[in-house]
Amino acid sequence: MTQGLLRRRQTLNSPQGPVIRLNDREALNFCSNDYLGLANHVALIDALKQGAEKYGVGSGASHMICGYSEAHVKLEERIAEFTGRQRALIFSTGYMANLAIVTSLLGRSDTVIGDRLNHASMTDAAQLSRARLKRYKHADPQSLDNVLKKNAEGKTLVITDGVFSMDGDIAPLRELTTVCRAYHAWLAVDDAHGFGVLGDKGGGTLNYFDLGAQEVPVLMATFGKALGTFGAFVAGDDELIEMLMQTARSYIYTTASPPALAWATLRAIELIEQETWRREYLHALILRFKAGARQLNLPIKASETPIQPLIIGDARRAVEISNALLDKGIFISAIRPPTVPKDTSRLRITLTAAHSEQQVDRLLETLAAVL
Ligand SMILES: *Cc1c(COP(=O)(O)O)cnc(C)c1O
Repeated sequence: MTQGLLRRRQTLNSPQGPVIRLNDREALNFCSNDYLGLANHVALIDALKQGAEKYGVGSGASHMICGYSEAHVKLEERIAEFTGRQRALIFSTGYMANLAIVTSLLGRSDTVIGDRLNHASMTDAAQLSRARLKRYKHADPQSLDNVLKKNAEGKTLVITDGVFSMDGDIAPLRELTTVCRAYHAWLAVDDAHGFGVLGDKGGGTLNYFDLGAQEVPVLMATFGKALGTFGAFVAGDDELIEMLMQTARSYIYTTASPPALAWATLRAIELIEQETWRREYLHALILRFKAGARQLNLPIKASETPIQPLIIGDARRAVEISNALLDKGIFISAIRPPTVPKDTSRLRITLTAAHSEQQVDRLLETLAAVL
């Protein structure tokens, strides 16, 4: 591996948070997906402990054998209610949820059409399904229309990130739903980075655009980001969920996630509803960062979400800047190909509700000094 593409892991010696211990040194952290600062929230720690007292640690089996706990039932019901859908299904990870969606809905003679910048899990899912994989230009409904026009045979599933994981921009869901309706294509949204963060209720990108199950029949989101726990769900109508449960190999052939985790995630959803100040404060921090970055002429992309990428271009240079920042006590890992397209290596800055205004100001000052 040359050109600065070798991946190295840094060791965390503390809980996730704005101030972490990294490789046994303190650092200010601006690259987690813990957008609401819940990963180390005392209420979630308590809920996880309580869940373990109630249900033990391991689930002991897959869902179909004897690993499906009442904690999972409660969480599925809660997610269905929260997202305004008939049912929900819990997966161990978002990666597995995406595998389930595409492989269960499509086969050899069908087509899956994805945004060029979709998360890798959706591309892998398409390959596993054996369906034809087509892509449309990033966040471009007209390009989607063109691709749909040329691929009219069989069933068609259009799939997109709600908030793009490495760019932070929001998919133009309203326009995409119109195009999908015209071609009778299903639309699936992976809202890993929008769920909990966007919308007045924290319902995510669909809440932000006020779109329901009619327009977006397949909704997937994860618990490992804004909710501060781990796992994922797919929500939709009875027929969809039954189909996933009966056929998705990434649901059937795996051990059910620990019920205590489901218990903690239930508490996280409560926090999303109760602690609305987290979303409001996070939004104010985003505006503060953007205003500061503009003043300093930093090359940030247009994004209104907590993901604020600073585009560097060259992979090696991105690593150098990341290292220079760490020397000054600020941790932002460099994101390089193949996670992002060639020559768009970046510092993927993320803000969270656990950061203070002073910490964001220090980030801006340090960026200005290092760039
Ligand atoms: C993180 C992420 C996933 C994977 O979810 P995990 O629970 O971490 O496996 C899927 N899609 C997107 C867009 C993501 O950002």
